[in-house]
Amino acid sequence: MKTISILGSTGSIGTQTLDVVRANGDLRVAGIAAGRNVRLLEAQIREFSPKVVAVWEEEAAKELKTAVADLDVKIMTGMEGLLEVATLPEAEIVVTAIVGMIGIRPTIEAIRAGKDIALANKETLVTAGHLIMPLAQECGVRILPVDSEHSAIFQCLNGEQPSQIEKLLITASGGPFRGRTAEELKGVRVEDALKHPNWSMGQKITIDSATLVNKGLEVMEAKWLFGMDLDQIEVVVQPQSVIHSMIEFKDGAIMAQLGTPDMKLPIQYALYYPERRYLAGDRLDFAKLGQITFERPDTEVFLGLPYAYRAAREGGSMPTIFNAANERAVSRFLQRKIGFTDIYEIIAACMDAHKKIEHPSLEQILEAEQEAYELIESRW
Ligand code: NDP
Ligand code: MG
Repeated sequence: MKTISILGSTGSIGTQTLDVVRANGDLRVAGIAAGRNVRLLEAQIREFSPKVVAVWEEEAAKELKTAVADLDVKIMTGMEGLLEVATLPEAEIVVTAIVGMIGIRPTIEAIRAGKDIALANKETLVTAGHLIMPLAQECGVRILPVDSEHSAIFQCLNGEQPSQIEKLLITASGGPFRGRTAEELKGVRVEDALKHPNWSMGQKITIDSATLVNKGLEVMEAKWLFGMDLDQIEVVVQPQSVIHSMIEFKDGAIMAQLGTPDMKLPIQYALYYPERRYLAGDRLDFAKLGQITFERPDTEVFLGLPYAYRAAREGGSMPTIFNAANERAVSRFLQRKIGFTDIYEIIAACMDAHKKIEHPSLEQILEAEQEAYELIESRW
């Protein structure tokens, strides 16, 4: 019996983690945390009996308390609640499936408390990788990737020496607007951007996939997870999303992990690593698939990728600015306050205005985040 906690239990990754728990029968859930989805939280509490539940919003927490008054469960709110769920003594693994930089502090505290991290929340590594990776090493905990590309690399690395890697080939679907011109991108609507060709995911990451910001975040995530130089990370567009990523070794051999697009595989792999378990679902049928094709990413039109490389090369607090500007811009786009390509404009303006801090502390990361938010508030 393994015990886990889930930050972001009501989201796309969170609910699929609970699907994995349900299918296996030997995982226990000690704590769950979410933003405000009371109805789903109540159902999850009744099914999985966590000891502690964190709800970000006060009002939602009150409502949940009333709804589960017949049960023995502690309901908490705000950051205090998130930190409590992240550090519950009985949990061995914390699944970080919360969206955005809000995940940094709970992840850091979970590591300090000796928990292995099944990491979906890439924004945390992008902004605070320089704090998190050494801390994880110091505390002897594992950062197990849940992101499908990073899980693919992690799976290909099994038994191999990271020093033998020549480069990482991170695959990308290209998103719903692959092949469009910059002019055509300007008028795209929220509904169109939310239609990912292959994966069903939360709203923020779906927009990030359409801008290719997600791929940029994943390049930075890979840099931290596998200790690579940026020059060793290449993005390859593979529109069918069958190859989840690849490693090229020094001798020219390339290892790839393939499969149908199903996040339950990387989630389950992280939870049981190094064991593999049966997972129900479709299997790849190569004859039916017919072909797997490759392209270079269009970095002239999809500026998310070149801007991410710029942020990563500058380093320090710049990835935080890139990420924070994107988080706020995406939220405005989803509220239909700005256009799709304004996301790029906002990211570039925030990075241009920022004076980089070389090795930002957690406090300085959070200050940089605020700086980006304030600039956006004043101009858009
Ligand atoms: P969703 O939007 O589907 O879910 C986000 C979760 O976070 C929800 O449970 C939400 O709760 C919770 N949440 C939001 N704000 C807070 C808060 N302040 N306090 C506590 N909980 C909060 O996102 P995804 O599952 O798609 O993505 C989660 C992370 O995983 C992201 O970092 C994403 O980049 C990454 N990821 C996702 C993949 C996917 O397939 N979805 C693939 C690879 C990575 P509520 O619903 O109650 O608001
Ligand atoms: Mg991914």
